[in-house]
Amino acid sequence: MAQGMSKRPKALIIGGGVAGPVTGIFLKQAGIDAEVFEAWPYSTGIGGGGLQIAPNGMHVLAEIGLADDMIARGSVAESFDFHSQSGDRLGSLNRNMKARFGQPAVNMCRATLNEMLINKAWCANVELRFEKRLVAIEDRADQPIVAHFADGSSAEGDFVIGADGVHSAVRGHVVPDGPKPFDTGLIGFGGFVPRAVIEHSPIGRRVVTTFGQSGFFGYGFCSSDPADGVMWWSTQPSHGVDAATYRAMSQDQLRQHLRKFHAGWHDPILPIIDAAENIVVTDTLDVATLPTWSRKRTLLIGDAAHATSPHAGQGASLALEDAMRLGRLMQSRQELSLTFQNFEAERRPRAEKIVALARRNGNSKREFSPTGAWIRNRMMKLMLPLGARAMDFMYAYDPRAA
Ligand SMILES: Cc1cc2nc3c(=O)[nH]c(=O)nc-3n(C[C@H](O)[C@H](O)[C@H](O)COP(=O)(O)OP(=O)(O)OC[C@H]3O[C@@H](n4cnc5c(N)ncnc54)[C@H](O)[C@@H]3O)c2cc1C
Repeated sequence: MAQGMSKRPKALIIGGGVAGPVTGIFLKQAGIDAEVFEAWPYSTGIGGGGLQIAPNGMHVLAEIGLADDMIARGSVAESFDFHSQSGDRLGSLNRNMKARFGQPAVNMCRATLNEMLINKAWCANVELRFEKRLVAIEDRADQPIVAHFADGSSAEGDFVIGADGVHSAVRGHVVPDGPKPFDTGLIGFGGFVPRAVIEHSPIGRRVVTTFGQSGFFGYGFCSSDPADGVMWWSTQPSHGVDAATYRAMSQDQLRQHLRKFHAGWHDPILPIIDAAENIVVTDTLDVATLPTWSRKRTLLIGDAAHATSPHAGQGASLALEDAMRLGRLMQSRQELSLTFQNFEAERRPRAEKIVALARRNGNSKREFSPTGAWIRNRMMKLMLPLGARAMDFMYAYDPRAA
């Protein structure tokens, strides 16, 4: 561990989303105290919507004793089935995940996942502070590193972990004038509807996804609670209209927009839209590769280091892997900068490969001519078995064995 550290070193972790609380747990296991600072008040900061934790992320949750709870409160996804907008089946991916990779893929409400991670961190004696928005980091040699917050308070520690997501403030400290998130030209809408809405089109444990001539729609079970059991999402070309503009609209206006966009798409897409409430709108962002993930005593992890557009369904799983690998590397008690370098050397190639794959996947959700969409659908039918194999590397990674 770095010179000048007290007997039991202390990490200041910025961000209480996915990577932050889990990093706190793994650092505690490595004998390092951890305090997490989250900008939002408890339980209201995390945007709604559902997400999927892939087998590689589930291995990390298993390691902290959360995999079974996750499966009980979420919903195991047994495959990803692709359709054309008229309902033709194009093929299927991600079957038998548990048998092949040791853990299933699990759909879950993002707020439930966050609540579970925060509770687990709390039980592991990680200190959690809410309404603490980082504004600056002060790193002077031979002094503790200081994090300054928007409310005028500050905290001292031995090092800082920036787990503050795609809009990371810590990133500006590590890479001043570095890349900023850019809009990929797609916009996302999402939310939940009760199971009853799709009872006439039973899907079992499959996730149904549909590629239109323009845009994409997906849905699947995400909870054991029948009141909000189905998550859905729509991805569309934004045509220059950003999420803030849509967020200013009423829910009725959003439903109207979605109904118009998905008019003529197969059942039960329109009934899902009609039943949608609390629709969440998200920009689809990406960040160019950073020249470095660390500077002196500060390291970036998760989306702060390698934000990925959501089209590989891997951002949260990568963030979980980062948390566990960092904790494991910290156990070696090497000099801090060496641990940070080893972390980046180990994690960067994998993260960048997945970011690139997500970008390619995103391209099939853009606007096509009718012939272009026809060709894309034919290609999908042909290529899905090959594509499936090309994606196995994401799921086959086991952070315990790395
Ligand atoms: C529409 C959409 C769908 C997605 N679907 C999936 C999916 O199915 N599967 C998947 O694996 N991933 C998915 N992702 C990606 C996934 O959500 C992220 O990759 C993941 O949350 C990254 O975790 P993180 O901890 O790095 O960042 P986050 O989870 O974003 O957490 C960062 C936290 O830091 C806080 N913060 C920000 N700034 C500050 C500050 N200055 N001071 C203090 N705190 C701060 C934020 O409030 C937030 O709580 C999706 C993303 C989107 C947008």
